[in-house]
Amino acid sequence: MKSIYSETFSNLEQYFIDHGDKKFRAVQVFQWLYQKRVSSFREMSNLKKEVIELLEQDYMFTKLEILEVQRDRDVNKYLFRLPDKEHIEAVLMFHDYGNSVCISTQVGCNMGCKFCESGRRKKVRSLEVYEMVQQVLAIEEDIDKRISHVVLMGIGEPFDNYDNVVDFISIINHPHGIALGSRHITVSTCGIIPKIKEFSELPYQVNLAISLHAPNDLLRNQIMPINRAYPLTELMPVIRDYIRKTNRRVTFEYILLKDVNDSVACAKELATLLRGMNCYVNLIPYNETNHIEFKRSSQETILKFYDILKKEKISVTIRREFGRKISAACGQLRSEKEESI
Ligand code: SAH
Repeated sequence: MKSIYSETFSNLEQYFIDHGDKKFRAVQVFQWLYQKRVSSFREMSNLKKEVIELLEQDYMFTKLEILEVQRDRDVNKYLFRLPDKEHIEAVLMFHDYGNSVCISTQVGCNMGCKFCESGRRKKVRSLEVYEMVQQVLAIEEDIDKRISHVVLMGIGEPFDNYDNVVDFISIINHPHGIALGSRHITVSTCGIIPKIKEFSELPYQVNLAISLHAPNDLLRNQIMPINRAYPLTELMPVIRDYIRKTNRRVTFEYILLKDVNDSVACAKELATLLRGMNCYVNLIPYNETNHIEFKRSSQETILKFYDILKKEKISVTIRREFGRKISAACGQLRSEKEESI
């Protein structure tokens, strides 16, 4: 049976029409789910008994179990247990502009980026829509505050779970749903070209971030195997098209890895690659993990890299760090947990 939290607003409207009812019922159901946050159909007191019985027949109410929360001053890290006993994680960050949450889209990941903890475990499955929606709901319940920003940068590759990710976005963005503005939602991808093209056709004004991490194919092939399928030489024109079509600024994420991609030459090559594009670069200090041989670039190297991009007139920021103490790099909490069980 389908979880009611997997259903998009327009599908729910269609469902009611198909059952000879008014599509306005979808508004009522969404309001109960996402504004009043009830936990059973019985509580939907403005629905007739027959409607409630119909819904009970076709949908289930689900809840995501929080297995563990690590709390720090400006960050909470959540470990969830899914119905099939798999684990995923989400990270909540308290900013001065609001509360942003980084959610997972898959159990494991098949992209195999060499520096990334999540990819150490191959994809087991993609998350259902409700498993993404309920990461947001569970965290809002835990902190008793609203989340203002959602980034799809946790475990998994969102564009390897494209249809569910798009439904998830439509639910959290819907005015009767969680009602998060599309500009407050960011999808991050390692560069799945066909899906970037599809994504540019959608009506949402969602932000797109590309995990770049190298300024040329030779280097990117070494650290991101996906680059062999979708090399930079093909990816960059597709991103230019995306920008033209959507008129939106794209973010490039660039993790600085000591002696791998952090040289002056890399910075200059990156500037050349991005010149003239409506984009900005987010430099990410690498979160070292126990298992992976990559090292974080020194602060001096990071600043030098930043300065070169600035001088080359590329918009650039250095990512503020949250939760180094509490293993907040994606995939870390889960892999610690699974190794200790
Ligand atoms: N698969 C998607 C989204 C998940 S990864 C993507 O590739 O974009 C989210 C971001 O975290 C990516 O830019 C990824 O490269 C980065 N990341 C992975 N491991 C990291 C680590 N140990 N330290 C810092 N950033 C990391």
